[in-house]
Amino acid sequence: MSGAVRLVLLGPPGAGKGTQAVLVAQHRGIPHISTGDILRSAVAAGSELGKKVKSILDSGNLVPDEVVIGLIRERLAKSDCERGFLLDGFPRTVDQAKALTALLKDIGRELSHVLDISVPENVLIDRIRSRGAQGSGRADDTGEVAANRLKVYWEQTAPVTSYYNQIGRVIKIDGLGTIDEVQARIGKALD
Ligand code: AMP
Repeated sequence: MSGAVRLVLLGPPGAGKGTQAVLVAQHRGIPHISTGDILRSAVAAGSELGKKVKSILDSGNLVPDEVVIGLIRERLAKSDCERGFLLDGFPRTVDQAKALTALLKDIGRELSHVLDISVPENVLIDRIRSRGAQGSGRADDTGEVAANRLKVYWEQTAPVTSYYNQIGRVIKIDGLGTIDEVQARIGKALD
């Protein structure tokens, strides 16, 4: 469908991706697809997948590419994605990004937007710590695990931004300010 928003939201842990993703998806009436949410639900449900990935989530490392690519392939095949979608937390590696490009090409589609929410590193650390301290319900928001998630981001996920810059345009969004301010910047980028 032309005009549909098929969006990838990039940015380090603590950049506010999840919060912004929920609002954008609501506003545009498109599904919010978060691999982190899907994986956490699997862990909570104690499913086979959940048992397989629990210790990985607990460590802040990445679940194998083939696992998350499989989840995304299944999810994007659902009919609600025909009017567009927002991906939050996927792709997290260049191989995942390439798989997504191929997957969309197979169905004659491509992404309409790639947004990268950027926030200075010292702010990220403060935000993740205070989220953990306020009881975000995320075991991976505290201490060493939070630090590892940032390390994993710089090593494995930051290159995804370069990949998208090579094949298209990445719109940088300043992630500092209030939720509403950042939301307004995203809205402008999508219009
Ligand atoms: P998130 O909620 O996006 O921060 O994801 C929480 C955790 O789920 C991550 O720290 C990873 O262990 C795992 N995860 C989520 N998305 C992915 C992905 N695209 N690739 C690999 N692991 C992922």
